Amino acid sequence: MNNELYIYNSFTREREKFEPLHEGHVGLYVCGPTVYSDVHLGNCRTFVSFDIVYRYLTYLGYKVRYVRNITDVGHLEGDIDSDAEDKISKKARLEQLEPMEIVHKYTLGFRDIMHLLNALPPNIEPTATGHIIEQIEMVSKILENGFGYIKNGSVYFDTPKFVKEYGVYGKLSGKQIEELFTETREALKKQDEKNHPSDFAIWIKADERHLMRWPSPWSVGFPGWHLECSAMSTKYLGAQFDIHGGGMDLQFPHHENEIAQNYGACGSMPVRYWMHGNMLLLNGRKMSKTPDPITGKSNSILPLELFTGQNEIFSKAYSPMTMRFFMLQCHYRSTLDLTDAALLAAEKGYRRLMDAYKALQQLQAPANAEAAQLDQEINGLIDQAFEDMNDDFNTPKALSRLFELVATINGIKDGHLPADRVSAATLQRLKEVFQHFIFDIFGLLDEHDGGQDGQTVDGLMQLIINIRKEARERKDWGTSDQIRDALKDLQIQLKDSKEGTSWVKGS
Ligand code: AMP
Ligand code: ZN
Repeated sequence: MNNELYIYNSFTREREKFEPLHEGHVGLYVCGPTVYSDVHLGNCRTFVSFDIVYRYLTYLGYKVRYVRNITDVGHLEGDIDSDAEDKISKKARLEQLEPMEIVHKYTLGFRDIMHLLNALPPNIEPTATGHIIEQIEMVSKILENGFGYIKNGSVYFDTPKFVKEYGVYGKLSGKQIEELFTETREALKKQDEKNHPSDFAIWIKADERHLMRWPSPWSVGFPGWHLECSAMSTKYLGAQFDIHGGGMDLQFPHHENEIAQNYGACGSMPVRYWMHGNMLLLNGRKMSKTPDPITGKSNSILPLELFTGQNEIFSKAYSPMTMRFFMLQCHYRSTLDLTDAALLAAEKGYRRLMDAYKALQQLQAPANAEAAQLDQEINGLIDQAFEDMNDDFNTPKALSRLFELVATINGIKDGHLPADRVSAATLQRLKEVFQHFIFDIFGLLDEHDGGQDGQTVDGLMQLIINIRKEARERKDWGTSDQIRDALKDLQIQLKDSKEGTSWVKGS
């Protein structure tokens, strides 16, 4: 089995062998949400994709420092530094709340959703407002190094100077520099302040509309949106670190500008492997908060609307684990269309996988410890599943291998396949690998058994089954029947077969 991990690097557009900067350690930075409204399921897809990356790197034995920021200032309407308003400031003004009330509300909401989707919390969750000093320092360095200039209290990044010196502006997003210049020209209203249309603000002088502002050497103002990620990734992971992630729509301008800022301040490329997740689609279009100019409706659905069924898009409610399973069925670099049919299929697939996991736990090791007929096939599929994960985190392929194994597990459980076709050692490996893949790597929970308590329930059920078995061996039919009836009242069915007793929920 090949144990080397390969990652598709969006910067070089190559599949590259992963070699961390410091052996055994990985620095992972993922752009977090802008907390001015609830995250939609599209945002969740990106965070779940990187949760899998984090989980798999951890599973491989790396000590990962996972940093995912909270954008709580600086992200302007329309993602451009025109004289547009800060998204959080605007929401605070509209709702007559303190900006920090908005930030707090949506940060907590975001964490709740991540918890429901069983996405692990990052090791550090820094906020932009908590790192104003670091951002001011970075602007100073950029100015010192000659990559920025001051106009009317705002500071701009000098892109032509950067292109001349390093020549990498536009490489990540695959845009020609001329294209960037014309694209941005249309959008800019503060054009007169900039020396060049593609220059971007790294410090913005605040007018009276801006509720969040800080003193700086240049003006009372606030940092440009792109600056926070450069400043916080450098602070917590160093001037160069291993992996930077985010959705594809962040390649330009956000990540392109992050690269420019880091070169400007530190003189080097900050990131070794750039990873970008593709978009979740709804009605064939990118899911987005931005309202349609004609209908005024946004093409999005919130996680809780999906989980509770309170929406006009889908026929029924779908659980968080169905959603997570649905996301796993697609490679993170492909687009994924959210449809009723696909969710129904994911719901079925998720149940089938969980049922097989339970059945597998109850399969008894056969008497023969020797190599058996199915060993090679089973071990081959397990190895392939790991190779799929090592091939740029290919979850759909790895999942399909697990489903091939599910067929074998069900065959043994139902008696179509004799249990002695699998040796005790292979059965043991299969049990361990299923456990690791389903819970540790894919991050699924067993929702039917009370989420994280599922394993406890499995253990308790096994205990009850054993007590009943002993009662039957003693010919204590009274106790045995009492257990069966009590479980029936709880809608738990016991099924006796040659291989032992298994249980299922449902009447
Ligand atoms: P934002 O809160 O807008 O800064 O977005 C947070 C994250 O969600 C970013 O990494 C975006 O790239 C990502 N994102 C936004 N829309 C989608 C979508 N439809 N599908 C997948 N990821 C998305
Ligand atoms: Zn970012």
